[in-house]
Amino acid sequence: MELQQLLFSQGFGARATCLGLVQKGLVTVAGQPVADPYEDIAAQDGLEFTVEGKPWTYHAKAYLMLHKPAGYECSQKPGAWPSIYTLLPAPLRQRPVKGGQPGVQAIGRLDQDTTGLLLLSDDGAWIHRMSSPKHHVPKVYEVVTADPVTEQQVAKLLQDVVLVDDPKPVRAAACEATGTHSLRLTLTEGKYHQVKRMVAAVGNRVTGLHRSRIGKLELPGDLQPGEWRWLDVAARAASQ
Ligand code: URA
Repeated sequence: MELQQLLFSQGFGARATCLGLVQKGLVTVAGQPVADPYEDIAAQDGLEFTVEGKPWTYHAKAYLMLHKPAGYECSQKPGAWPSIYTLLPAPLRQRPVKGGQPGVQAIGRLDQDTTGLLLLSDDGAWIHRMSSPKHHVPKVYEVVTADPVTEQQVAKLLQDVVLVDDPKPVRAAACEATGTHSLRLTLTEGKYHQVKRMVAAVGNRVTGLHRSRIGKLELPGDLQPGEWRWLDVAARAASQ
């Protein structure tokens, strides 16, 4: 792949910008300066290069996890709070996507005040598969409640819960009290505000919500709120 095309594919700006970056001597590939924008580069995942001194790693498709902090909306056009996309570097927001808007997209949404594991990608087929309700990927939530958690509430969450405005009952795939005012809840669906609405439907109220796991993929303990990381093949397989 020509170097200027490689930069374009990774989100370093318009074609003319990418051409200029190379011609100005601002790009190194695998540690070596490359000044010819048309030089053929063996582009494969993991190839390291720098642009204006900043390191980047080539990925044909982007798959990543983000530790969503509280106070961010999972929307490209947020209302009252900043967007989670502002937590990502520009190349991830600008990567060209065939037939779609540029940049990676979040797979599902977390509320503004919810923290935890969020997956993002620019691979439309993967986004579609991971967000399909048919896929039933279990998602684990750590819930803090306003009132003490009772055995009856746990039992009800595991049976059919009827939500306000939604006649089709829902149930948790797993549920256990983890403290006097906390629960671990596993859902295989992703209805709007589902955890908060389910907990309200059994007579309690959510005061804190954190997603700790998607499929078998756990939010790594060393990924701080606001930080993101590439998903390797194993992590991607674990998440489905
Ligand atoms: N359920 C909710 O109520 N909120 C979230 O952010 C995620 C699941």
